[in-house]
Amino acid sequence: IRGNYLDDYAIYHDSMRDELLLEQELINDMELALENREFKLYLQPQCNLATSKIVGAEALVRWQHPEKGLILPGKFIPLFEENHFILKLDNYIWEECCKFLRDWVNGGNVPVPISVNLSRIHLCDSGLYDRLIFLIEKYDISPAWIDLEIMESAYADDTGYLNQIVDRLRNYGFTILLDDFGRGYSSLSTLKDINADALKLDMRFLTEASNNKDKGRDILECVVYMAKRLHMPVLVEGVETKEQVDFLRKINCCYAQGFYYYRPMAAQAFQQLLKNKDLV
Ligand code: C2E
Ligand code: CA
Ligand code: CA
Ligand code: CA
Repeated sequence: IRGNYLDDYAIYHDSMRDELLLEQELINDMELALENREFKLYLQPQCNLATSKIVGAEALVRWQHPEKGLILPGKFIPLFEENHFILKLDNYIWEECCKFLRDWVNGGNVPVPISVNLSRIHLCDSGLYDRLIFLIEKYDISPAWIDLEIMESAYADDTGYLNQIVDRLRNYGFTILLDDFGRGYSSLSTLKDINADALKLDMRFLTEASNNKDKGRDILECVVYMAKRLHMPVLVEGVETKEQVDFLRKINCCYAQGFYYYRPMAAQAFQQLLKNKDLV
């Protein structure tokens, strides 16, 4: 028993050490990686549930690391929130979105709205508004083409202050989406206090890790109904199956995003997709 225990301990210890090493390496590499343009803009299409046509996309970052390959944001976003590098990285990603939109519109195309993620770190940073406006003006795009995704947990501390920022951004013309609605512990008060424009709900949150899928579906239906009463469109993400799509149509949900339709893809691939007029 004692031998096993020590083996397990050694394995545990090794993997902890490896993880810490990896985190330290990512932190050491981040500044240079930004300069070398190793962070890539990926876009995941968002669809109209009734027509399956593409109505927009969410910007999701990936790190194309020269030695480690493609790294998903779950591995580095928490680190960069801790050391505030997220402010620089997101600004870079937003600029990539603005460039993408400028390029697309220059080609004579109708703009497609892109939603970007705002970390809670941005919402406590007084420079947020100016940085966003700077990019909008630099690339001469409309704020109507950029939607801002905000997580309710960001509001937990001081709704008064955050509501001010949100109102300012909305007055300028941005659309505000409440991301992962219902996942935090203050969803209803967030909904009441913050002037958001639309809700994003995660299908996986309601169906996975639950021994009662019917209950998850009932909740989803009620949230869609509630949002309708508040004149807020709902986008359900994490949609993976035809069965889920059928259900969402049945409860009159408008928009969906998920592997059932498209996976996140490089910006270039998304542009190719948009050129296929049947899909848009
Ligand atoms: P999120 O904002 O909730 O983004 C949705 C996540 O679900 C993405 O993971 C996406 O790839 C994944 N997803 C979409 N459809 C499906 C599906 O049908 N099935 C499954 N299993 N997954 C699906 P990703 O790209 O790994 O991003 C994870 C999180 O990292 C995001 O969650 C977001 O909170 C954060 N994030 C990603 N990119 C950025 C960024 O540029 N800036 C900031 N601040 N955060 C980001
Ligand atoms: Ca850690
Ligand atoms: Ca999001
Ligand atoms: Ca989400």
